[in-house]
Amino acid sequence: MPETYAPKRKDFPLSNLNDSMRLVRVRCAYCKRQHCYFPSDLIQIFGDVDVDSLAYRMKCESDPAHGLLNVEAFWPTGEEAVNLRIRRLVAIKIQRIPVWREE
Ligand SMILES: [Zn+2]
Repeated sequence: MPETYAPKRKDFPLSNLNDSMRLVRVRCAYCKRQHCYFPSDLIQIFGDVDVDSLAYRMKCESDPAHGLLNVEAFWPTGEEAVNLRIRRLVAIKIQRIPVWREE
């Protein structure tokens, strides 16, 4: 949804979803991939940020060039919850990048 210039809505932190047992659905409009996450997993990576801001912080796992993701908080219905696969955080890898200097 192109609402870049719309007035900023009130921040809605991830911790707010945690408290109400809601999940976060992230969808790539380009390749139609979608994943569901626990807010608590996302907090470990991004901190307790505004839910809408995840659209900018997260990248499509197929191709980071796919652009803005569609992020929404939702409360799975009974039927939905049965087949729902949730993408859980297994580990956060720290990348070691060497930095060089001539002396
Ligand atoms: Zn994609």
